[in-house]
Amino acid sequence: MKQSFYDLSYAELAAVVDENNFNNTVTSVLFNWYYKKKATVPCAGKISKASLNFFEQHYDFSLPDIDTVYQSKKDRAVKFLFKLKDNHKVETVLIPFNNKYSICLSSQVGCAMRCSFCFTGEQGLTRNLSTAEIIGQFLMAWRWLATHRPGEQRILNIVFMGQGEPLHNFDAVKNACDIFLSQHGTSIAAQKITISTAGYIPGLKRWSREIPGVNLALSLHSTLAETRNELIPINKKYPLDQVLEYIDQIPLSKKQFVTYEYILIDNVNDSPEDAKELGGLLVGKSAYINLIPFNPFPGSRYSSPDLDKVERFKAELDAFKIPTLIRGAKGDDVLAACGQLNSNDQHNC
Ligand code: SAH
Repeated sequence: MKQSFYDLSYAELAAVVDENNFNNTVTSVLFNWYYKKKATVPCAGKISKASLNFFEQHYDFSLPDIDTVYQSKKDRAVKFLFKLKDNHKVETVLIPFNNKYSICLSSQVGCAMRCSFCFTGEQGLTRNLSTAEIIGQFLMAWRWLATHRPGEQRILNIVFMGQGEPLHNFDAVKNACDIFLSQHGTSIAAQKITISTAGYIPGLKRWSREIPGVNLALSLHSTLAETRNELIPINKKYPLDQVLEYIDQIPLSKKQFVTYEYILIDNVNDSPEDAKELGGLLVGKSAYINLIPFNPFPGSRYSSPDLDKVERFKAELDAFKIPTLIRGAKGDDVLAACGQLNSNDQHNC
């Protein structure tokens, strides 16, 4: 089977170009063609016929197929179910804001973290996605917008908050970030890309060394070891205090901050005392808190607190003067909100 062109970082492509003695402009021309222009036809840029033939012959330029598209009637969110070459499926979400979009990408088929509040976690891990399958979600969503919502193909932020634990599939996620960041590629600024983790320390270490400008979000969800162990089982192996200790010693750039995500689950982690503990833990850090009321899914064992409770939790936190946002559940009518993604399409209406 041919290797996918979309698996290659800029440096890897440049090495292939070099090995084959093609003019070194071939790398930037190909990146421009496929990532900046997002062209769907073979490259017609200014490169030699020999280099064009070589890439056509040796590389696969196909992308994942869109199996199903779910469009929210509430808020213009769009969820894509992609079908991969081996028939596995993953989901991707376009989250709207002012006629622009953030894209929520999947990094794995399923997830090994098995968080008890997450629909993907129930699936377990099937396999890692390749770089091409990650980049493919972005390019295919862009093409869909260009066809179905012309003029709206503005995907300005990338969040690795779909299916999977991105730091558990570091190599592919790193290569995808390389392509997103490349000035010849999609040229997206590092501050516009966020990787969300359940606290997988080996991956955190690589993130801090290899792609430190890309933002980090930590799924915190409880300051109490017992509760966090129940919600995020890898807390037993990589406890929160060790994760925070590690994050605290990473030098962040001036404008950079870490996002701490906190799901609010009724009567599990949503009391005023929980809020005070959370504020006490994060005060003084370059932190931003995202409160996410739990999004239910078929068969979920938890429920979401009512709005009053959510607002009280936020009011307690506000005393600590940490910027805090209550994240709305965009796209929840098509199960496109956080934690509602699952590769089995039969649950979708
Ligand atoms: N594995 C990564 C990224 C995927 S989940 C991580 O754990 O961060 C992206 C975010 O959605 C995480 O903060 C996760 O905790 C949250 N999430 C998962 N299930 C959810 C649910 N049912 N309701 C609300 N948020 C959920």
